Amino acid sequence: MNTVSSEFGSMVFDDAVMQARLPKETYKALRNTIKNGKHLDLSVATVVANAMKDWAVEKGATHFTHWFQPMTGVTAEKHDSFISPRDNGKVIMEFSGKELIQGEPDASSFPSGGLRATFEARGYTAWDATSYAFIKDNILCIPTVFCSYGGEALDQKTALLRSMEAINKQALRVLKLFGNEDVKSVKTTVGPEQEYFLVDKALYDQRKDLIYTGRTLFGARPPKGQELDDHYFGAIKPRVAEFMKELNTELWKLGILAKTEHNEVAPAQHELAPIFTTSNIAADHNQLTMEIMQKVAKKHDMVCLLHEKPFAGVNGSGKHNNWSISTDTGANLLEPGATPYENAQFLLFLAAVIKSVDEYQDLLRISVASAGNDHRLGANEAPPAIVSMFLGTDLSEILDAIVNDTAYDSKEKEIMRIGVHTLPKFPKDTTDRNRTSPFAFTGNKFEFRMLGSASSISCANTVLNTAVAETLKEFADYLEGRDDFEKALHDLIKDTIKAHKRIIFNGDGYDDKWVKEAESRGLLNLKTTPEALAHLLDEKNIRLFESHKVYSKAELTARYEVLNESYGKIINIEALTMLDMARKDILPAMSEFAKKLSKSALEKKEFVADVDLTYEKETVKKLGDMTKEAYKHVLKLEEDLSAAKDITSAPEYAMYCKDKILPDMAALRISVDSAEAISSKKDWPYPSYGELLFGV
Ligand code: ADP
Ligand code: MG
Repeated sequence: MNTVSSEFGSMVFDDAVMQARLPKETYKALRNTIKNGKHLDLSVATVVANAMKDWAVEKGATHFTHWFQPMTGVTAEKHDSFISPRDNGKVIMEFSGKELIQGEPDASSFPSGGLRATFEARGYTAWDATSYAFIKDNILCIPTVFCSYGGEALDQKTALLRSMEAINKQALRVLKLFGNEDVKSVKTTVGPEQEYFLVDKALYDQRKDLIYTGRTLFGARPPKGQELDDHYFGAIKPRVAEFMKELNTELWKLGILAKTEHNEVAPAQHELAPIFTTSNIAADHNQLTMEIMQKVAKKHDMVCLLHEKPFAGVNGSGKHNNWSISTDTGANLLEPGATPYENAQFLLFLAAVIKSVDEYQDLLRISVASAGNDHRLGANEAPPAIVSMFLGTDLSEILDAIVNDTAYDSKEKEIMRIGVHTLPKFPKDTTDRNRTSPFAFTGNKFEFRMLGSASSISCANTVLNTAVAETLKEFADYLEGRDDFEKALHDLIKDTIKAHKRIIFNGDGYDDKWVKEAESRGLLNLKTTPEALAHLLDEKNIRLFESHKVYSKAELTARYEVLNESYGKIINIEALTMLDMARKDILPAMSEFAKKLSKSALEKKEFVADVDLTYEKETVKKLGDMTKEAYKHVLKLEEDLSAAKDITSAPEYAMYCKDKILPDMAALRISVDSAEAISSKKDWPYPSYGELLFGV
């Protein structure tokens, strides 16, 4: 038997297991819950829980946990064992229906952004039955949402599920207008490509910056970086290949469809892409993927770095969020169809995405904002901080023809009319050529490329789903009950494209000229997290989330607090780590090396009176100057950190960090890195960039 197919999903309580192990009625009730989002009856839950426990115990599980995604962006779990004591001093393995559907973790240890102050202090977790339970490290994990007792979302999953519901509702209205009566539900699908770095564990252990912050805070450029482009798609080194092999096996067991893997542009950088699935499952799977990557790397004496910019001067890591909308009847709504009518429908959904991305560019930017991603967005290898869309020439020509009432093909005489013309299928290679666009149409899906490698994909997808739901709602409101549907449709698409054309940009997004051009188009360029977050609570954004019941104003405010707080904390930790490294290791090393050179110069001179000492003299002098500079910046950083002690507002502190602390850190780094470049390897306290990047 093929081991891959027999191992695939072996640790997942999936549909096949449910069907095999549950009584028919229970299975049907559970399917109904999963399919239609119905509430699960306690009596049904009891039967499911028992079957789940038996299955899990057979697989070696001893504990269960409600697995959830608090606002910190990582996952959380609290383990409870199945053991239940009996009167006779023995124990039995038990797992009740109540334990399956609801849990009560101590909410106080997770960020709530003030939600706890205004509402109940406690929080509860509830099973998201649309995402299968699975076993990880002998623990049965139940994917759950995490809410306060008042029902406010304290996690990432709740809003994502709500946003999927919002887009489902509005897309169904639109589909009905096209006569798709058989479609019962619409789901967004996501395939997130995950980038990461692998470094040698022994080297990693010698770098406090990597240990405390996930990225290097110092480090002189190595003689070789990524300029030769020889790593991209290059042969995978044996140690990395072993890692990937084991990673795949572990992911497959969890039912994660890890599909492609390759080296990325930067040395030591790699990528893993899964086959796409429903958004909330994709989000769960991506969290698991990141966790398993780190775990498996350790087994191979490596460390997996998920930070967006572990190394200055080489590419950072992101996540490409491939996104589409599909129906329960198997249609991909972002796939140009075979008939004029299907094409009309496709163009309407396309127009909806264009309008949504334009109107909510601020939210999309916010949804990917983090201290780590700020080093990447706007840097020259990643999408700039400006949100724009790439459609490719074919599709753009079609839209132009619609807007200008012209023929879209030089061979065609007729004016482009929606509902009459058949669009050509867009071959992938004509749509996927632009690698610099933050939001690119790639033939039958959009690829949102601004996401950071370390963050959860939930937030970006929540925004995307909700924004598109809003536009679809406006479209349905406009189109419903029209006598001349085709004309209304044509006008709507035409007017929408006309009004939102500015967001479409097919050129080179990394070109400086684009920044100016985007500005003249009135597009936002929110360069940093604090600047982006300042827009989260804009009136129109609150209205959007409230009207689709994705976030209440209180929930959104909580996120605003948590995101600002987290940004400030990260910068603070980085600054303290730099100071620690500078004072404890780097400055002493610089001083020590200068002393060594001086001593050796004196000894040499004593031995041979007219010996040439240019190297020693100049280096000692330079090191002296650099030490002075570095020390000055240490003092400045310390001073600015303590000057901020009294700032209690999270957004204000975040802004302060961006304006004051980050520039101090950058200045300190410059003097230290230049000292590293002229110091002896033996006398430098940390492994170099060269060793880290080429050491695996
Ligand atoms: P590449 O980006 O390397 O050209 P693909 O286009 O085949 O590769 O796929 C990239 C990612 O997009 C994969 O994770 C894939 O599963 C995902 N993807 C493909 N189709 C869809 C879809 N309809 N919805 C969401 N993701 C999709
Ligand atoms: Mg891709």
